[in-house]
Amino acid sequence: MVHKREEKAIIPQPKSRFLRVKCLNCGNQQIIFGCSATDVECLVCGKTLLQSTGGKARILTKILEVLS
Ligand SMILES: [Zn+2]
Repeated sequence: MVHKREEKAIIPQPKSRFLRVKCLNCGNQQIIFGCSATDVECLVCGKTLLQSTGGKARILTKILEVLS
């Protein structure tokens, strides 16, 4: 018999994908990483689009599309 190492339960990856978002302030669209460890700002007006809150990112703007 082959003894396999017991595997830990697979935890779904937290939003580790790219998102197409639209800045609510200026309408600029850009692609951001959904679980960025740092804040992401709009490239045009500087508004914070994604806020990093210690591990879990919070999207502060409109998500147009989730890119897998
Ligand atoms: Zn903007």
